[in-house]
Amino acid sequence: MAKRRKSRGKLLVVSGFSGVGKGTVIKELMAEHPDYAFSVSATTRAPRPGETDGKDYFFIDPATFDRWVEEGRFLEYARFFDRAYGTLKDHVDQLRDEGKTVILDIEVEGAMNVCRLCPDAVSVYIIPPDAKELVRRITGRGTETEEQITNRMKKAVREADIVERYGHIVVNDTVRETAAEIHSFVRGRGKDRVPREEALRLTREVQKELREILKDRENCDNITI
Ligand code: 5GP
Repeated sequence: MAKRRKSRGKLLVVSGFSGVGKGTVIKELMAEHPDYAFSVSATTRAPRPGETDGKDYFFIDPATFDRWVEEGRFLEYARFFDRAYGTLKDHVDQLRDEGKTVILDIEVEGAMNVCRLCPDAVSVYIIPPDAKELVRRITGRGTETEEQITNRMKKAVREADIVERYGHIVVNDTVRETAAEIHSFVRGRGKDRVPREEALRLTREVQKELREILKDRENCDNITI
């Protein structure tokens, strides 16, 4: 008897402000639903403590990254903070052919490129319920220099203008409910728990808060003793 072919898996693009807890939500989604798979990106940045090559990222050098760009191996890629990140086309295709819903944890520039190339991708931007808490998380990671923290905040301020282009904006209040909400969008029967207008208002609040902190930081830098 002919084997029934599995239908091709979907693409789920997930972005979010740095420190919003995106990784935890993605882990929850994968723990609850074995038909999700994580797209392991390639990056030129160094591994952080606890990260594994081939699981968190494929850690490669800049020359290899440039070669892979030339060979057309990336579905999308982006360069920022002197680093490069890219989604591997073959890796994603293989998982989708296995019927997996593939999760792309990528930033806005890459996300918009994927949405252009794959209009049926489900796109989600995760925002925090409270701007102050996010700022605490961005500044309190403990693994980054002051310059890196400032760069992350500046990037978040720019990203906030693009949030409205995402199909869904999700407020991460509790991990379980956030993951369940995203799953309902993938299944095509989701309803926003927080109305879009309210989510956009919260996004602007985060942007404003970050702008003010950046201004304070710049003033501090200008003080000469
Ligand atoms: P981190 O260095 O903290 O792991 O990631 C920094 C940013 O890069 C995050 O916003 C993450 O979503 C994004 N990122 C990770 N992989 C990719 C990728 O393949 N493409 C793009 N465009 N962004 C990525």
